[in-house]
Amino acid sequence: MPKTNAEYLHEYRNTYEGLKKYIIDKWKRCGLIETDQYTYEELFDAWLWCPECENCGCELAPARAPRSSNSRCMDHCHKTRIFRNILCNACNVKREFYEPSGNTGV
Ligand SMILES: [Zn+2]
Repeated sequence: MPKTNAEYLHEYRNTYEGLKKYIIDKWKRCGLIETDQYTYEELFDAWLWCPECENCGCELAPARAPRSSNSRCMDHCHKTRIFRNILCNACNVKREFYEPSGNTGV
């Protein structure tokens, strides 16, 4: 039976290049920007290979694992849109909620 487009897309996202495109597109939609310090590609490699949360030190789930409290997240300032840390999902949610700038949960 021939493969469907959805199956091709699923396979593509399981490759390094496919995952990179998918994740970077997602970051762009969330408002994360590139700076002189790093490109999206460099951020992606840092995100993909980061072993543990930079805040609580818990072991991060593999990049393709289903969403959980230790999923890897790109924490960024919602005012400047600049990357800050690679965090677990639990820490990222907490930081968004308590962010002193008042830009909560955006
Ligand atoms: Zn954490």
